[in-house]
Amino acid sequence: MRHIKLALVGGPPTLFGHSAIADNLTQMVRHTLIVGALAAAAAWGQQNPLLTEDTVKISDHVWAIMGFPNIAIVAGTRGTLVVDTGLGPRNGATIARAAAKLSAPNAKLYLTTTHFHPEHAAGDAGFPPGTILIRNGVQQQEMDAHGKELLATFSSRNAQWKELLADVNLRTPDVIYNDDARVDLGGASVRLLWFGGAHTKGDELIFVEPDRTLISGDVVQNKTVPNIAADGGTPASWLAVLDKIAALNALHVLPDHSAPGDGSLVAQERAFMMDLRTRALTLKKQGVSVDDAAKQLSSDLMAKYSDWPAMNVAGFVKSVYAE
Ligand SMILES: [Zn+2]
Ligand SMILES: [Zn+2]
Repeated sequence: MRHIKLALVGGPPTLFGHSAIADNLTQMVRHTLIVGALAAAAAWGQQNPLLTEDTVKISDHVWAIMGFPNIAIVAGTRGTLVVDTGLGPRNGATIARAAAKLSAPNAKLYLTTTHFHPEHAAGDAGFPPGTILIRNGVQQQEMDAHGKELLATFSSRNAQWKELLADVNLRTPDVIYNDDARVDLGGASVRLLWFGGAHTKGDELIFVEPDRTLISGDVVQNKTVPNIAADGGTPASWLAVLDKIAALNALHVLPDHSAPGDGSLVAQERAFMMDLRTRALTLKKQGVSVDDAAKQLSSDLMAKYSDWPAMNVAGFVKSVYAE
């Protein structure tokens, strides 16, 4: 842990309230279905939960395995940081092999996760012993509270997912930070940031400083409707997170469930969210039911954002109505 400088800014992570487990599961199944629908429309085979060792270069120090989800590998002269684990240990091992090919000799291996959902965080057992796992405190609280439930939900989806998640061992991170940590990989300083709740309460943003590359998890996507998981953030907190992200002035953005793009994805995410939220609030004021609002807005926005692969806004409209 010599190369980690933890900059502890602000107070301890806030505790979060729990909604009903049934709600949580329903919402998570919905989340999975939405991801599934997007995957069907996407060009890079996101529906296949088996990752490959193939990488594409995103910026000077950043490579990506494109899949479900996209995995980032950040390589410096002394260390390599992997962002997200894939669905279960078999995928974790695939990623670790890909990372080894990109790593400097004797590089230390670090692993972090954008949020606690199984395709992002359930594969850590596939990484070699000695891998340093880093996670923010709020995300770890979510993992402790809901990690096992989500593994059960994902395992029940089909036989392949069940097998991939069979040997999952959710280990305790080596480093838990509050809201701002820095990892020096040698020639590449990386910030791990917790800006507040968005898709989940513990979403982490990863910013590779020399490249100005943002690894954005579910928080900034490319032409993808935002989705707030049960017990996640709120539309207002997500917008506040986007404002903090905008101040990073990213040049490249690598989302986890859509195609990489340039820094304009941050403003695009914000503009879409404002548009959807404003429309939903107007319908709410008019007394339109949440289900009718979702139907109307899905069709209105499909026409306006015609190049988006899917426009299922029901989950986000519910979040706006609940605000
Ligand atoms: Zn997720
Ligand atoms: Zn995901």
